[in-house]
Amino acid sequence: MNPGARIIVLGKQGAGKGTQAVRLSHHYVVPHIATGDTFRSAVRARSEFGARAKKYLDAGDLVPDDVVIGVVTERLTHDDTTHRGFILDGFPRTVHQAEALTTIVEPHHLDLVANLDIDDGTVLRRLAARRVCTDCGANYSVDDNPPRVRGICDVCGGEVVQRDDDTETAIRRRLELYERSTAPLIDWYHDRGLLATVAATGSPDDVTDRVVLEVNRHKAPGVGPS
Ligand code: AMP
Repeated sequence: MNPGARIIVLGKQGAGKGTQAVRLSHHYVVPHIATGDTFRSAVRARSEFGARAKKYLDAGDLVPDDVVIGVVTERLTHDDTTHRGFILDGFPRTVHQAEALTTIVEPHHLDLVANLDIDDGTVLRRLAARRVCTDCGANYSVDDNPPRVRGICDVCGGEVVQRDDDTETAIRRRLELYERSTAPLIDWYHDRGLLATVAATGSPDDVTDRVVLEVNRHKAPGVGPS
């Protein structure tokens, strides 16, 4: 039996977090939880919660910690995640969120924090080409991985569009924010023996293989959180 896993995928926007999180969720048969997707669906549904989140998303700003932590706490207490685990994509983004996550998953611990490593020039190129399914969150690239039928998701038949926040100004803002708020998480998880930095270049298969290797290495006896 596949025992599941508890994995965080970290990395700048455009590092391929969404792509890798979907692949890892199939590999380990655990839910893929993407906080950005949750907020975007709320905005599309025009809920009151979505209306509050929209101004942060449009500006490329972080949604306040207490709101995000509330959303993730609610999701991580469902049976599927408490039993088998999860692939977290886009959370945590601050040390405060990481501290909250440690408490949320207790008595379990994380298997790995995979830090997908990529340079800013590649990020800007990739994000300009990125398209995403508004229904299932599948990612495409108009450069090298377009949907088979233009504008239609191969996986679920949903609509494939460019994200509203994939404008150059919002991308630069998110890269700055990443350095300020999220990059400190790399040291935080490194200090706890959970971090593996993986080159986010090459094919999606190559990157998934690197992450799975690291998960196996960290699950081996004597390696992992101290
Ligand atoms: P993403 O799809 O991960 O790039 O997230 C899109 C947007 O959702 C971000 O620019 C933030 O506005 C918001 N968001 C997603 N996850 C978080 C988080 N963990 N903390 C704060 N804001 C978040």
